[in-house]
Amino acid sequence: MKFSLYLKFLLGYLIFGIAGFVTIATLSSHLTYDYLIRTRSATLYDEANLIASNYSRFYSGYDIDIQGAYPQLQAVATFLQADIWIVDRNGYIAIDSSGKKTGQTIADFDPTATGNKSSGRYFDSFEYDVLSVSAPITGNYKTYGYIVIHLPMDRVQQSQYQILNIVYITSLIVFVLSLVILAVFHILVYRPLNQINTAAKNYAQGNLKYTIEIHTNDEIGYLAGTLNYMATELSQAEDYQKTFITNISHDFRSPLTSIKGYLEAILDGTIPYEMQNQYLERVISEVARLTKLTGSILTLNSLDAQGHLNRSTFDIKAMIKSICESFEIQCRTKDIVIDLTFSANEHLVYADSSKIEQVLYNLIDNAIKFSHTSGEIYVDVSEKNGKVFISIKDKGIGIPKKDTKKIFKRFYKSDLSRGKDKKGTGLGLSIVKDIIKAHGEHIDVISTEGVGSEFIFSLTKIEE
Ligand code: ADP
Repeated sequence: MKFSLYLKFLLGYLIFGIAGFVTIATLSSHLTYDYLIRTRSATLYDEANLIASNYSRFYSGYDIDIQGAYPQLQAVATFLQADIWIVDRNGYIAIDSSGKKTGQTIADFDPTATGNKSSGRYFDSFEYDVLSVSAPITGNYKTYGYIVIHLPMDRVQQSQYQILNIVYITSLIVFVLSLVILAVFHILVYRPLNQINTAAKNYAQGNLKYTIEIHTNDEIGYLAGTLNYMATELSQAEDYQKTFITNISHDFRSPLTSIKGYLEAILDGTIPYEMQNQYLERVISEVARLTKLTGSILTLNSLDAQGHLNRSTFDIKAMIKSICESFEIQCRTKDIVIDLTFSANEHLVYADSSKIEQVLYNLIDNAIKFSHTSGEIYVDVSEKNGKVFISIKDKGIGIPKKDTKKIFKRFYKSDLSRGKDKKGTGLGLSIVKDIIKAHGEHIDVISTEGVGSEFIFSLTKIEE
């Protein structure tokens, strides 16, 4: 696996390079050959026509003025690197610029068979291939003969090779230059992916503290960022789980130790018979605390596990009123007044009524617990932007600034509250927060130490 991606890319690159090179070589070879034949024959044909029109003046009857034609033809032939013939209608070569075939007759000469352009041996006159073009020498509406120019094919091929060499060298340079892509791939993709791979292995082995050091602003950078975030969250969850278990064990152990202590003392007679009722009441109170703790943990667990809500439409004000009534005894004991300032009309919300009941119960219970004797609690309901806001405000001990963010964490109790509420589990507000979150809503707290606290949460409003 280690080199496979790199090898694949390298292989792909090589295949691309070779395929590209073969395509360029084949295509350019054919194209340049065609191009050269076309342009050369066109040039030679023009030249042949020019010579033919010049030489038609030298004819008198069927004879050719050989002496006058020869030097000029030789010069043009040298310039064109070709052989120029003046041939009469019967195939008699009156002049060959190279001098080799002057005076010979071409066997089976038929200019109509070749047209004005052909390639090959030209009626077997040559031992090698030539590109031949011919132009008629005419005058007085008669064809006296022909100017035939022969260019050896290897001359055309030479030019072709020269052009091809340039093409090959250029493509080789481009191929070598494109190695840069390989370097870029190595730096920008392969190396970071390798780092991510190492990180994934570390995470798999449980080392969630491993950090990926990639800070680029591209997809790989985002991936590294997401993985780092995931590792931090997992690591926090792991830490949280450990603390959770420690806290649960602690919260279970203390009441159990007390219960055991009381019961042993009753059994061995340390507590006299007439005082046993008092201690048994303490045992009941500790058992109640344990029951509450177990209930809270189960609620949290069910919120974590299911997350689904049983929503219905109900009047939140009616619910608040009935919950406040259920706190009558606690309020009377502490001489606390709950002020329900809201108007008489209904406020319909769409939520899980039993869960919202639990939210209100926890928040009002806290407000009473942390209020001073003869205090006042204000519960208010207001509406804004399609939401209903419920506020529970007290003038109690308040929450120290450093604690306001932590109170929603499981098992958290502020130092101030420890004296006031020995039975608290520190789970109430985290249940509240989870329920509100499951509804897709928000809860906030505003509090000043020694002045009081206000908890506000939102719910989805239903139009009446
Ligand atoms: P508990 O079940 O122990 O009350 P909560 O999760 O409900 O736990 O509350 C966590 C902590 O937040 C409390 O121990 C207390 O320190 C603080 N707290 C909650 N409500 C109030 C309030 N109305 N006034 C002051 N402190 C509060």
